[in-house]
Amino acid sequence: AAKDAAHQQHMFFSAPLNDRVQSEMLLETRLRTALATGQLELHYQPQVNPANGDLIGLEALIRWPDGQGNWIPPCDFISLAEKTGLIIDLGHFVLDEACRQAAHWLTAGFEFGHVSVNVSPIEFQQPNFASNVRKVLERYQLPPRTLCLEVTENVFVDTSERLVLDLLFELQTMGVLLSLDDFGSGYSSLSYLHKLPFQELKIDRAFLQDADLYPQKKQLYQAIVGLGKSLGLRVVAEGAETEGEYLLTVGLECDSLQGYFCARPLPAKDIPDCCLSISEALNSDRLQSIRKR
Ligand code: C2E
Ligand code: MG
Ligand code: MG
Ligand code: MG
Repeated sequence: AAKDAAHQQHMFFSAPLNDRVQSEMLLETRLRTALATGQLELHYQPQVNPANGDLIGLEALIRWPDGQGNWIPPCDFISLAEKTGLIIDLGHFVLDEACRQAAHWLTAGFEFGHVSVNVSPIEFQQPNFASNVRKVLERYQLPPRTLCLEVTENVFVDTSERLVLDLLFELQTMGVLLSLDDFGSGYSSLSYLHKLPFQELKIDRAFLQDADLYPQKKQLYQAIVGLGKSLGLRVVAEGAETEGEYLLTVGLECDSLQGYFCARPLPAKDIPDCCLSISEALNSDRLQSIRKR
């Protein structure tokens, strides 16, 4: 009986762990297959000037269809891809596909500003990262200024500051735009911000959420926007969902706005029309008159 109990106990503790490992392995296999068979795709979310709706850029966001009409969200597989190293191949796909699409839009005469690509710290640590970026730009004859690379503060974790700096400056010299994503959400150090070659600061969505409703949150948001602007950065307000949040970004003169209030991420084919409707909506008589108040 004692042996049985020990066995039971062992089962009790190890089964869920086993399940987790197995389901992760299954997910990894499926992700690898999805990547190899071209099932992954990119959606794009517009970034616009909140004051007039002008298109500033498009952020490429990876999408994995589950075969049943739904999407498996990136938060469910990016960290797994990072853990298994699959992020390298996945990152190659994302960069290549975003640049291919950008070149296509340029040829078609659609002025999108820049396409932004998220780069994982693991990709950033690859010695050939910069040379791969150069190769992809050449492959599609893409002007470097039409590509923006988004990194989070996490690139500074686990990697020497020197290495990150060198790479950032190499990319800057190449002419691609650099954006600091999810600013304020992670390992934040204000001390390095002024010496990094970013052109853009994306304030983490958490700061904007309900900031129009709570004076303290509003103050904090205003301070972060001011910080970015004083450093000469293009300040992107991420995640405006409501009209109140949108109007706050107008009032604080954020340079760029990306959020469900304007549009959700969409397949590439829907983007040009979507950008037209955003511009129409933001220039409607109603919003114009509210903005003037
Ligand atoms: P991120 O780079 O900060 O991207 C913005 C995320 O916020 C996207 O989620 C976008 O759909 C979402 N979002 C935009 N506006 C709103 C809003 O108004 N409200 C709310 N609630 N959410 C909004 P998504 O596409 O699920 O991506 C999540 C994260 O996954 C990204 O955060 C990025 O860190 C990562 N990711 C996505 N695609 C890629 C990729 O191709 N490569 C890498 N390395 N990471 C990626
Ligand atoms: Mg991003
Ligand atoms: Mg972000
Ligand atoms: Mg994020």
